[in-house]
Amino acid sequence: MNIYLKNITKRFGKNTVLDNLSLCFESGQLTALLGPSGCGKTTILNIMAGVLPPTDGEVFFGDQCMTNAPLQQRNIGYVFQNYSLYPNMTAYDNLNFPLSNLKLSGMTRAQRKAYCSEKINSIAKLLRIEDTLTRFPSELSGGQQQRIAIGRAIIRDPDILLMDEPFANLDRKLSVEMREEVKELQQSTGITTVFVTHNQSDANAISDKIILLNNGIVQQADAASEIYDRPRNRFVADFFGEFGSNIMDLDDQGRKVFSLISNIPPHQAASVSFRPEAVTVENDKGPFRVKSATRLGGSWLYVLQYEEFRISVLSARKLQLAEGVSITVDPLCVTFYDSTGTRMDQ
Ligand code: ATP
Repeated sequence: MNIYLKNITKRFGKNTVLDNLSLCFESGQLTALLGPSGCGKTTILNIMAGVLPPTDGEVFFGDQCMTNAPLQQRNIGYVFQNYSLYPNMTAYDNLNFPLSNLKLSGMTRAQRKAYCSEKINSIAKLLRIEDTLTRFPSELSGGQQQRIAIGRAIIRDPDILLMDEPFANLDRKLSVEMREEVKELQQSTGITTVFVTHNQSDANAISDKIILLNNGIVQQADAASEIYDRPRNRFVADFFGEFGSNIMDLDDQGRKVFSLISNIPPHQAASVSFRPEAVTVENDKGPFRVKSATRLGGSWLYVLQYEEFRISVLSARKLQLAEGVSITVDPLCVTFYDSTGTRMDQ
């Protein structure tokens, strides 16, 4: 089911967090809401869930207007960041809880119990938590608690699954495992899923589409590869990508230095960006000096400097660099921006 947020404004007192925002989440897709802390991601999720009313604007599920519908009518599963499991209930009872007020007309008490038990066992199997069902949340690991929270959110077959920072409380290895599992689950169920994250590697790894926000404004909504390769503005170039981008203002000095590393004419551009891995270094006594070299697992990040210009270079191997080096940039990886910081189409 498509979700459409139309002209949404949200104010908390005098603080306008979302200002006339329109967004579409496509049916059956896994979409990440990504952006710096405080940019309004959780507010958007809560407006979709009906936990928060928008100050203005409308929320549509398919073609049905849901703006004023309460959470119970939205058929949504919501995984909160802290999981919000009931501490005095076993994992089984936590999973059973959403089923307790499910309308199952015509069923006897025994039939109802059997139905719920079958449902819980099939979810437990899907999420590989069959062995944990008799335990209380305090007796479960972070990953197991998270699986229970996801199970509880999807046990009533919701049309939409919303997750707030689902991997934030897990260590790196477990979060990598869990995000793959969430992807598999989403693909096997086909459920329209939106998750909030400030961690771009999570967004990058599993989403069909990333909506990148800053200050409540959509900066770019695209597949991860498109955002990485064709940032729509300087904010995106800088924020997205583990090592950001090299960004140079093309004033007189900037143009002079850019002409040393690329022969693409910048024409009217006010600035330019290129990724650290798009830079090649030559040991030929050029003007750049090595400022720092950092080992990053299997690769190396070098910072080179010429006058006030610092250029990051990512290399798959350790480089033996002389005192002065020159650099060139892959022409296919250069993006120019106008004076508003918007990408100029080349
Ligand atoms: P984070 O990644 O840190 O969780 P976020 O992008 O999810 O941040 P939100 O939680 O949506 O951001 O908050 C956006 C802005 O709205 C923040 O400035 C926050 O302080 C403010 N805000 C959120 N909820 C409320 C509230 N109930 N009352 C007042 N201000 C709020």
